[in-house]
Amino acid sequence: MKIWVNGDCDGFARCVTLAPEVFTTPDEPDFRTTVIRPEVDEHGEEELAARVIAAIQQCPKRAIRTDLDVSF
Ligand code: SF4
Repeated sequence: MKIWVNGDCDGFARCVTLAPEVFTTPDEPDFRTTVIRPEVDEHGEEELAARVIAAIQQCPKRAIRTDLDVSF
């Protein structure tokens, strides 16, 4: 799955708590999260992919995007 964050991100890092291997946020809360792992193998890295999907579903701004069909 490919992962990216759009400009709606508020930078308060719920996604970083769930999947720090994939997301990182600067100290200043005004700044957008950066995706440090833009691709996760949802077949070979199932546990990580599940946490990324949880982050997508729990993002308060719906700012995390993926090419995977994720339900809400
Ligand atoms: S959970 Fe969503 S809004 Fe919050 S930092 Fe992550 S991408 Fe941004």
